Amino acid sequence: MVEIYPWQTSLWQQLAGRTRHAHAYLLHGPTGIGKRALAERLMARLLCQHPNGLEACGHCKACHLLAAGTHPDNFVLEPEEADKAIKVDQVRELVNFVVQTAQLGGRKVILLEPAEAMNLNAANALLKSLEEPSGETVLLLISHQPSRLLPTIRSRCVQQACPLPDRASSLAWLEGALPQSNSEEREELLTLAAGSPLAALRLQAQGVREQRALVVEGVKKLLKQQIGASQLAESWNALPLLQLFDWFCDWSQAMLRYRLTGDQQVLGLADMRKVVQYLADKSGQAKILAIQDWLLAQRQKVLGKANLNRVLLLEALLVQWASLPGPG
Ligand SMILES: [Zn+2]
Repeated sequence: MVEIYPWQTSLWQQLAGRTRHAHAYLLHGPTGIGKRALAERLMARLLCQHPNGLEACGHCKACHLLAAGTHPDNFVLEPEEADKAIKVDQVRELVNFVVQTAQLGGRKVILLEPAEAMNLNAANALLKSLEEPSGETVLLLISHQPSRLLPTIRSRCVQQACPLPDRASSLAWLEGALPQSNSEEREELLTLAAGSPLAALRLQAQGVREQRALVVEGVKKLLKQQIGASQLAESWNALPLLQLFDWFCDWSQAMLRYRLTGDQQVLGLADMRKVVQYLADKSGQAKILAIQDWLLAQRQKVLGKANLNRVLLLEALLVQWASLPGPG
């Protein structure tokens, strides 16, 4: 049985409790809150031959085949490589699946994640098959960035928003998931994960707190001129690029907000608070705005998987960062 997270209980009841199911659902919301778990559980419920109320029975032929990964009427479509696009050939395979008759005589269920990984051709091929649904086929789309989907895809689906759980629920759940951690660590992890509890757990497994400590130490040394930009860029070779850009974006934004409000609450996590405050006080507004524009543009490139020379890119970032304090 797929785990259902405590913050999803009412969402689950809404979805699974429908008397008639739609042809397509779009589960959307931030990453790291369990949309996939929700979709998998719904898939099991929709395929089960003898459901118990809202739940799949776990014992019928369909449940056994699904658990073994060999259910013939179930199709999971994901990018072949993590973070890459879903190819049009993959969607064509899906379209062939849609036109086949269900082998177990029940529904066919498709799970596609993330929907925004389809390029235009792939999305068009999918749309065509959604227009001509054959038999009882249910498509479960998962999207972390629904704004990137074609409006025509969105409008053909029943949209189910999956909101971020409140901070208290997330912290309570993290306490159970990370029994060795203390409350300060959990607070920090959840903040680094922008409030997503499952993302917080993943970050912990990646060693994000250690990575963060390394980056913060490096930035402090850079500002004290104890290390050069290129040497520091080289030493960050193993760190995830997007993570680095997210942190620098956060810091530049915190500087701007602090300059506007003078409120120390906006300075962010304790490890960089003093540095951010110092930079906000010592740097010109125009320089901070310029670096923030640059960071956001580069972050888009990183997100778009552009072919980047990461050492050169980080060096450019650090050179600008080191020159923040001072006139201009
Ligand atoms: Zn069953």
